[in-house]
Amino acid sequence: MLIYAIVDLTDMRTTLFTLVCVLASWLHLACGLSHAATDCVLRLVEVIIFLAIELGRIMTFTKASGTPTITTSRQALSLPHDVQKAMSALLIEPTIIHSICCPNCFAKYTLDSLPQVCL
Ligand SMILES: [Zn+2]
Repeated sequence: MLIYAIVDLTDMRTTLFTLVCVLASWLHLACGLSHAATDCVLRLVEVIIFLAIELGRIMTFTKASGTPTITTSRQALSLPHDVQKAMSALLIEPTIIHSICCPNCFAKYTLDSLPQVCL
């Protein structure tokens, strides 16, 4: 019984880590959120998860009339703190397409068709 509980905790940590990586990668790659903003989201998600765990711990402690019924070690969450780590964990290699953008009108040019003057 104890072994199953440990396996479940490991699976839950792995699943949580994977879901956070998917969230970060989706925000960055599909929604276009910047690296800095995605990194902020990752920090915020970690705080939310930590508070949820602490809330569950407190509720467990209260229900057991002063004695915790679940004795888990207080391990730090091992969640990604930046989008590079999140995408790396998911083995995502983004395809980067380089182009040039006019700073005045934002017209986009490929590297092969760059005019001397913006069209
Ligand atoms: Zn222009």
